[in-house]
Amino acid sequence: KPLVGNLIGEDHVNYVLMYNMLTGIRIAVSRCQAKIRRPLTDEDYTARHKYSFDIVGNELTPSAKYDFKFKDYAPWVFRELREDYFHLDPADYLLSLTAKYILSELGSPGKSGSFFYFSRDYRFIIKTIHHNEHKFLRRILKQYYEHVKSNPHTLLSRFYGLHRVKLPHGRKIHFVIMNNLFPAHKDIHETYDLKGSTVGREYPEEKAAQNPRAVLKDLNWIKRKKTLELGPEKRALLTEQLRRDSEMLKTLGVMDYSLLVGIHNMRRGNKDNVRRNTLKVFSPDMPMINRKKTIGKGPQSPEAIAMRRIMRQADPQSLDSGTITLPEEDTGERQYFLFYQDEGGLRATDEANECMDTIYYLGVIDILTPYNTLKKLEHFWKGLSADRHKISPVPPAEYASRFFCFMKSIMRGGGGGEKFLPE
Ligand code: ATP
Ligand code: CA
Ligand code: CA
Repeated sequence: KPLVGNLIGEDHVNYVLMYNMLTGIRIAVSRCQAKIRRPLTDEDYTARHKYSFDIVGNELTPSAKYDFKFKDYAPWVFRELREDYFHLDPADYLLSLTAKYILSELGSPGKSGSFFYFSRDYRFIIKTIHHNEHKFLRRILKQYYEHVKSNPHTLLSRFYGLHRVKLPHGRKIHFVIMNNLFPAHKDIHETYDLKGSTVGREYPEEKAAQNPRAVLKDLNWIKRKKTLELGPEKRALLTEQLRRDSEMLKTLGVMDYSLLVGIHNMRRGNKDNVRRNTLKVFSPDMPMINRKKTIGKGPQSPEAIAMRRIMRQADPQSLDSGTITLPEEDTGERQYFLFYQDEGGLRATDEANECMDTIYYLGVIDILTPYNTLKKLEHFWKGLSADRHKISPVPPAEYASRFFCFMKSIMRGGGGGEKFLPE
């Protein structure tokens, strides 16, 4: 079922940025990917590779439509994360990151002003991040890597790449590539962004009724008396993973993260087609890679395989229109992960571990906010007019334990989140 969206043209405000990001990713990733794997060294965590693009081109970069600079951070670390722990096929990854993009359906969903772009198969998200978040991710990269390595089923955001585009007038845009928790082939009927904080954490119910894609919050969850319907087995597994992940986030000294919960109701199925006609499709006219130079020698190099598949798939009509065909089923990497195994998510179960008619799509997102001076100030000010323990900005140790307790309480048998309500 093709989805029809509005095609983003060259006149769109973000066209140039988008073009530059995609061109940069494509060249940098294929460059790294074409090399023979080697064990990681300590330098790999701080490494950054620079590329300079212009309309002429050189032996390292093909000619591009615009002048810009591109930096690829810790490419070897991210490559190993992608291949060994996130189970991404290198050719698939490159293919998905080429040609078309879906602009955020939500505009800028967060308060932070970050932009979200979805890859055309809906598997990957590009999120622009603040310079501080960027510096922070680089600083904790080794810890993050080690955590992922010893927690293959982690619920934390899966970061696939960290990059920067610099425009000619000097503006720098940092961004990460990460997993989209929500699948392409299932409508999400309800979405919650849960923190365990209850002060001001409510999306107006009267607006929610009109907007099926609204992102609801802790107070909506509690007032609607929702529960995560999971049988003893899944409950135990999820609790243990959440415990380890929040422990990690505490160690990293971050806060303000949330558990994103997408709910698919199997009885409703996909008939509402929540996403249809709301997409904005971006299809940059990408520079052709000089295949001999860039693809590498071996005919089986991932880049060569990817390029051949791109060629085969690139039917000119779909390239020029706003049409995008989303996958019909979940293929790909999710089958490797405990909590993403059932149709890309976690199927609800009853107390006898029998399946119920709901699929959850869960993950811990927005994990790059350290408790810095600004957050301390926010803690102070918000704490003047509300319960100091129920506001969103609290120190990392308190945040982590509140987060974990809240998530336990909203699972079946957990007693509900009422005790987290403000007085
Ligand atoms: P703020 O700092 O104001 O909370 P932000 O710009 O940092 O906002 P996030 O909190 O990361 O943004 O995400 C905002 C919303 O985007 C989430 O509530 C969710 O609806 C959606 N979103 C974010 N990350 C993902 C993801 N990995 N998969 C699916 N949806 C996501
Ligand atoms: Ca957030
Ligand atoms: Ca944020």
